[in-house]
Amino acid sequence: MTTDELLQTDREHLWHPYTSTIDPLPVYPVREAHGAVITLCDGTELIDGMSSWWAAVHGYNHPRLNAALQKQMTQMSHVMFGGFTHEPAVDLARELLQILPQGLDQIFYADSGSVAVEVALKMAIQYQQSQGRNRNHFATIRSGYHGDTWHAMSVCDPVTGMHGIFAGPLPSQYFLPQPQSRYGQVWDPRDIQPLEQLLAEKSEELAALILEPIVQGAGGMYFYHPQYLVEARRLCSQYGVLLIFDEIATGFGRTGEIFAYKHASLVPDIMCIGKALTGGYMTLSASITTKAIADIICSGEAGCFMHGPTFMANPLACAVAAESIRLLKESGWQKKVRAIEAQLKEELAPAADLSSVKEVRVLGAIGVLEMHNPVDMASLQKKFVQEGIWIRPFGKLCYIMPPFIIEPKQLSRLTSGLIKVLRSEE
Ligand SMILES: *Cc1c(COP(=O)(O)O)cnc(C)c1O
Repeated sequence: MTTDELLQTDREHLWHPYTSTIDPLPVYPVREAHGAVITLCDGTELIDGMSSWWAAVHGYNHPRLNAALQKQMTQMSHVMFGGFTHEPAVDLARELLQILPQGLDQIFYADSGSVAVEVALKMAIQYQQSQGRNRNHFATIRSGYHGDTWHAMSVCDPVTGMHGIFAGPLPSQYFLPQPQSRYGQVWDPRDIQPLEQLLAEKSEELAALILEPIVQGAGGMYFYHPQYLVEARRLCSQYGVLLIFDEIATGFGRTGEIFAYKHASLVPDIMCIGKALTGGYMTLSASITTKAIADIICSGEAGCFMHGPTFMANPLACAVAAESIRLLKESGWQKKVRAIEAQLKEELAPAADLSSVKEVRVLGAIGVLEMHNPVDMASLQKKFVQEGIWIRPFGKLCYIMPPFIIEPKQLSRLTSGLIKVLRSEE
């Protein structure tokens, strides 16, 4: 297939994320990817600033992950998880149990991040029902993003969460203001008052509070104060509302801790993981809760948790995920993320002088430029590609979240290319 043929069929028949069939955004045909470099079909090499949406923490085509996948493939690619179990599922569970919070040890594997969020929400409903409580709503904070499926959409920010047009048909949930106390700054106790008030008035309606801990991702790339989580934990326990942490974006080291909840000392009731779980190789997610909550769920009318995806615990995905966690542990990721953080802080600081840039913020291996106005994604992306870098801005946000294996020189190309392109637009 020539590149032209590829692009033509793609344009005529394939839908890309959030794109129009009438006036599709350009797509760049990729031939291969190794380490932190993505190579297009015409040979253009791009340094990866996105980790394929938080996922490819070890870079692309990692020999250890390739080997894990190949080995598993020769044994079995998949068997149903109803009535069967297998070593990849159990091996991954053992790896996860070593890094998960104490007490969260009941693991439900699912297909994707959005499904893990659906599973967590269903767990919360069943937990409340089992105790005779008719609590059918959820609370969250503004500017959040929890996925694209139905109830995951209902807890995304109604404006920035990409699903505003579904507001009519979606179930309505309770939205609290985004905490104004930033990560690393002084905690303002007024930030927790709206949650205090909501729980005092509406806790009988609320099954759970769902939050992206510390870092809000696609809804705003915003870093808030850990004390919010501490206070939320206290209040949720007080009112019998479950606390769900969506660690799908933040998990596996991205924020400088293995999971973002570790920036505060507390444990949620349910945690969702995905994205970097398989090192970016394939889709897999999990929702994890405590034995006490799992047992309450299963003591209800249904007698079990009512969910079971066809590809649950897919052995290929579990094998590569288990190897990815081992690799992470052996890789000295903490040092690497700290070095990336320091370099992003230093090299992105000059961007604050650009008139189009409202704020520069960095946490862990995440560097964000918040712009005053929404950017023209297609034209900016074209210029980034001409600079040999892969950065995909959206809305008012230009951000870099590279694979942890990126070399300092490659990271400098990302930051200098980003600033150069933005400066040329001034
Ligand atoms: C990406 C994301 C999801 C959805 O995951 P998918 O695998 O795309 O379904 C949910 N929550 C957060 C915080 C995410 O970043």
